[in-house]
Amino acid sequence: MEKIKLSLVVPVYYEEDCIRQFLKETKEVLDKLEIDYEYVFIDDGSKDKTTDIIKEEAAANKKIKLVELSYNHGKQAAVTAGINYASGTHMIYMDPDLQDPPIEIPRFLEEMAKGYDVVYGIRREKKDNFINKIYSGIFWGVLRRFTGLEIPKGLAVMRMFNRKFADMFIQYKEQNRFIEGIFMHIGLKSSQLAIDQRERFSGVSKFNFKRKMNLAFDAIFDFSETPLKIAVRMGVGLTGLGLLGIVALAFAKLFLLNFQAGWLSIISVIIIATGLQIFFIGIAAMYIGRVYKETKHRPLYSVKETTNIDK
Ligand code: UDP
Ligand code: MG
Repeated sequence: MEKIKLSLVVPVYYEEDCIRQFLKETKEVLDKLEIDYEYVFIDDGSKDKTTDIIKEEAAANKKIKLVELSYNHGKQAAVTAGINYASGTHMIYMDPDLQDPPIEIPRFLEEMAKGYDVVYGIRREKKDNFINKIYSGIFWGVLRRFTGLEIPKGLAVMRMFNRKFADMFIQYKEQNRFIEGIFMHIGLKSSQLAIDQRERFSGVSKFNFKRKMNLAFDAIFDFSETPLKIAVRMGVGLTGLGLLGIVALAFAKLFLLNFQAGWLSIISVIIIATGLQIFFIGIAAMYIGRVYKETKHRPLYSVKETTNIDK
């Protein structure tokens, strides 16, 4: 059997306090295994000491590779860059904040050895505050409904996949990249492992409410045409309602004496109808904007500098 080389694909953005601890904990685990490995850090435009620390470590350890994106492209692009640069037979995608425990890496390798192409970490329990938990619940629930993708409940960041899976991933050239969606869309032979999640080692989550909302919109618009279908259905429904109104009006005119339709009712109907039209044109426009973005075929990210990478 060919020797395993594991690439740790790690996006970093303002993670100066986590890097050293992350390297320490993963190294302890990896050095005990009889495999070759490398770190592929992708810096997503941090302006703190994140890259300095990684470069310092990389000078002493050639296994540590760094790709610096020229500015903040977003985690989705960073992960994509990481997978593009990783040279392993196997890859594991992890955040450096140590929420997903490195000690689980051997279990992922064992599971992969059973012949799976991808093994997803599933959180036993979500370590997060109440509001975030509720938000996540709604987010994933809506997403499953809208996209029909079978995204496992409690999906963690930590996941391992092989070269075959990574090559498939690279084939997805879309600009609007919802990574979880792409992973599910690839499919292949997948398995799940329950893991215990910890608190963030240091720093705070970069995904504030606005970023999370944007991610939710990305996910829905990139993997589902349901909003367009809803618009069509509503349009048909309203037209039906309008026709019924005309019939009712004719009936009232013919059979009721003194019937007078008020102007308020007309204004209300006009306002509601116009509002709905603008809303649905807006939905269509969201798709058009995305189509426009896709047709430009711009590169997904721009790399400023690489360290310990020789291609
Ligand atoms: N991240 C990134 N670019 C960004 C925001 C975040 O590469 O614009 C990275 C970040 O360094 C971390 C990962 O994405 O490794 C997940 O971010 P975070 O831990 O803040 O989010 P959470 O775990 O709370 O979802
Ligand atoms: Mg995190």
